[in-house]
Parts: sequence; C-alpha cells; structure tokens
Amino acid sequence: MRSRNRLPLLLLGALVGLSALAGCATNPVTGKRELVLISEAQEIAMGEEAAPEFEKEFGGKVPDADLQQYVQSVGMRMAEVSDRPMPYTYTLVGSDVPNAFALPGGSIFITAGLMSQMTNERQLAAVLGHETGHVAARHSVQQMQKQMGAQLLVEIASRATGAETAGTAADVAKIVSTVALMKYSRDDEYQADELGVKYAAKAGYNPWGMVELLTLLDAMQEAEPSRFQEMFQTHPLSSKRIERARLMLLQDPAYEGRYSPAAADPNAQRFEQMRQVLIKTLKK
Ligand SMILES: [Zn+2]
Repeated sequence: MRSRNRLPLLLLGALVGLSALAGCATNPVTGKRELVLISEAQEIAMGEEAAPEFEKEFGGKVPDADLQQYVQSVGMRMAEVSDRPMPYTYTLVGSDVPNAFALPGGSIFITAGLMSQMTNERQLAAVLGHETGHVAARHSVQQMQKQMGAQLLVEIASRATGAETAGTAADVAKIVSTVALMKYSRDDEYQADELGVKYAAKAGYNPWGMVELLTLLDAMQEAEPSRFQEMFQTHPLSSKRIERARLMLLQDPAYEGRYSPAAADPNAQRFEQMRQVLIKTLKK
C-alpha cells in the first residue's frame, strides 16, 4: 500500500510544481482554473504602490476620521464575507465625479460625488460589495493581464516587488492606475453585481440596496450624462444590469421571499448623518 501511494504523491508534487511554473490557479469565485501570471504578493504590491497616486488623482482622502472609519467599517463587512481573503481597504476620496474603483490587491475607493448622492447604507454596502467582487473574482488583475499583455505585466509586477528606484515606483503606479480606470467587460459587471448582492446579504444587509443603487445611478445618468461618463466607462451600466439584479432577488432561492424592496433601511439615519458630515467637510 505504502509504495502504491508514494508514486501518486510524487506525481502530485510534480504537478503542483508544474502548475506553479505555468501559472495556473483556481479562481476563488468561479472555482475554474485560470492562467495567472503574477503572484498574489505581487498583485498586492502593485496595488499598494498605485494607491497613493490614485488617491491624489481623485481629490485625496476626505479629511474626516469618522467618515473614513464609517466607509471602512461598511466595506469590512463585505471583505469579511468575500470569497477571497485580501488586505482590503476602503477609502473615501474627495472627487465630486461619481465613481468607485478597485485596485488589484484590494484597495477600494469611493468618491464623495457618489456617496453624497446615495440615500442609505445598504446602497453603500452594495457599491463596496460590487468593488470587493471585482477584486475577489480577480477581475482587476485579469484586466491588467489583458490590457498590458503578459510580458509587460510580469515585468511591472517584478518591479513592484523587487528593489526599485523612485522612477520605477512611479511607473508602476501610473500604469496600474490607468488600467484600473479601464472598462470592465459586461460579464465582469454582472458578476460583480451578483457578488455585491451576495456579500451584502451575507453581511446582514437587505440586498435590494443593489437594485436601489443601480436605479439611482441610471436616473442620475439620464439627468446629467456628462458627469457620469467616467463612471460608466469603468463600470458599464445598462438597464439589463438592473433587471438582472432584480430577477436574482426575486427568483434565486437564496434571496427569494426573504427580503422586501419596500422595507426601510434600519441604518438609513446613520448614513444620512455621515452624508451630512461629508457635505460639510467638502464645503470647508
Ligand atoms: Zn464594476
């Protein structure tokens, strides 16, 4: 028995070694095998390198500790139930252009322009859950792989983790930031919506916040198309996204009959207080 077991074990070892070399990994969300060119440590290093530059570009951190703590705490509820443990951070930036972004590795941003338009906490949970979903399903890193091409990605990633000069750090930050603003595919958007719904529900929120959020965005886009151009370039919105989220909540056994779109958000008041703090902070 012993010798019969040994060979497969050796083979398994060799296979594991091989797949590490070839760069294959199981997607934490879909469970499917996929090509992975950079390690998780490299992905995190790239995101961390790009985060300060990115933050600056979008108006810097909103200078209020309570507000940052609030956004971080809602975000962490999504992080804790996500399919992929990563060092997630959630930052509110000052830009008045409505948007939200995820850098590879888990640095997530929401703009003041988006948060100030929302009306309750479950909508905030939905948007942070959607961005967490992009990181968990490895969309942000796949996006880099697609946009940069394999060779450049591997080079940039090794620069992000290796010894570097100030110049290369700036290069990495610039490239990662640019790619983070590129458009996700429609399928990535659908999946991030699904994950946003799933994480919000798991974290104890009414997941109808997703439908509210998408409906709100749709209405705002109709009213002010130019202000929303950037957001929808990154996360394409269509009436189909609203419809899909609605159908999921009505038909998926995980949600069907368990949540009411008409129920008030018990945290709406807390959200409104924070929103007022945000509006005051921006006026200073
Ligand atoms: Zn998205």
